[in-house]
Amino acid sequence: MKALIFIGMLGASAFAEDLCKQPSPEEMAKDAGVKLPPSPWHVANIWWDFEKPVEHFTSLEVDVTIDRDVPSDYNLYISPCGIAKINGLQFYGGIQTNINGWATKESRERVHRGKGGIFSRWSSDKTTPIGLDHVRTVAEDCLVESAGYEGEFASVRRPYAWTKGTYTWCITKGATEGENTWFNCTIRDSKGAVYEVGSLRFEGSDFTFWEKHSAFVEVYSTSKIPNSGIPKVNVTFGWPRLNGQKVPLKKVHAYYPDKGGPDSPDCAWVKAEGENCVVEVGPIFKRDEAKRRHDLVLGSKTRSVSKISSKDATALVDTNDAADLKDWGGKAGTLCVVWFPKIAALLPSEGFTSPKEVALYFDPAMKGVAHAANGKITISAAFVRAHSDDWGMVVHELTHVVQAYPAGGPGWLVEGIADWVRIVHFEPQAPRPKVTRLASYKDAYKTTAIFLEWCEKEHGAGLAVKLNAALRAGKYHEELWQLNTGKTVDELWADFAKTFSN
Ligand SMILES: [Zn+2]
Repeated sequence: MKALIFIGMLGASAFAEDLCKQPSPEEMAKDAGVKLPPSPWHVANIWWDFEKPVEHFTSLEVDVTIDRDVPSDYNLYISPCGIAKINGLQFYGGIQTNINGWATKESRERVHRGKGGIFSRWSSDKTTPIGLDHVRTVAEDCLVESAGYEGEFASVRRPYAWTKGTYTWCITKGATEGENTWFNCTIRDSKGAVYEVGSLRFEGSDFTFWEKHSAFVEVYSTSKIPNSGIPKVNVTFGWPRLNGQKVPLKKVHAYYPDKGGPDSPDCAWVKAEGENCVVEVGPIFKRDEAKRRHDLVLGSKTRSVSKISSKDATALVDTNDAADLKDWGGKAGTLCVVWFPKIAALLPSEGFTSPKEVALYFDPAMKGVAHAANGKITISAAFVRAHSDDWGMVVHELTHVVQAYPAGGPGWLVEGIADWVRIVHFEPQAPRPKVTRLASYKDAYKTTAIFLEWCEKEHGAGLAVKLNAALRAGKYHEELWQLNTGKTVDELWADFAKTFSN
């Protein structure tokens, strides 16, 4: 009985559907009447031409979406950084179905580790050897290599089980040590989880990124899989971001190399889709030579902003750069419309009329959570994907829009009042955060919020409203606590701290 079940399971996994499956390259080449060039095959190259080089380079980020699972019995290299140069020093990287390299800096034994990330650089002239002192691993499972078979290079690779989905491949400037600077390679998934690949050292401390960028999709050869099939797959590359900004572009084009290498049998097309470039890899065919190089016109996508209104308030929701958050954004907009008048009523002051319109923008590149300025709330798309029930965050940010305080007030109190609205009024049932004697009312956010809640319970309601009015008028001073409660803020905190269990 047991054996039967085992055979059944084996059967299921052995015949799991391979959505990338195509006839072998040899069969497809024969059918198309073409000859296969030697491996590796760059099935498509994309070039973005910038308006100008980017000075004081600190980061490169490119989003990559793979539309199906690519089994690691193919050798597929998806490179969102096909060639890049900083101060003339060349590097590249991306994700592969089969990383390989030396298991340690001391070892010269080649090991194969399946799916992973890769980051490589060449020596300044590509002929002077570059040693492994240019490589820093971040974990025991990192692989390294430094060799000269493709020009003298040093490289770090690390296993990473990528699947179908969206990832952001990043290079970030790290520490400068003497004359050299480390650059760190990471892969961020669509929920914002960051995975480190490793670091490489570059000569210099201030870098200029050249005036272009490239990406490619490659079918390569390894000693483990010398003759890989060509997987049917669509790979989408986003608009390159440098130093956190989309780079202004002059033009974008695709190129399918057939001479001058690395040459490929023709099996891919690149299409512009909104701001992205989509590489569609499929069967081998004979390309019209006039289409070996062609332009890609990006940005034709029209941006649509959805407007959610009541008689008291309006929210303008922009999820164009995070289309998967359209529903969430709509709910957040509705929440803002409902809570705008409530927050305005909670935080009144003489002569003040609350704004009635807020813009919500979901930022695909933003780290952190959210911020509000000038009637606009910017929310990290990655944060929302990982915390899809955090509606209180929206109420907190909306409170900043209603606060409309001039600069200069104490930040801890501004944040404390925003969280006072959030937890006392929007989430009254939510458990209060545990605060210890090591805390301070200046800790901001929830600590300050529950301190305000306690002060109002002990010394009468209205303190938060008075502090709000003073902050908004630019007249906040610490004596306000004593004027309204009979005790200084430090005395109040000391009383509050007596209620803590530790
Ligand atoms: Zn805040």
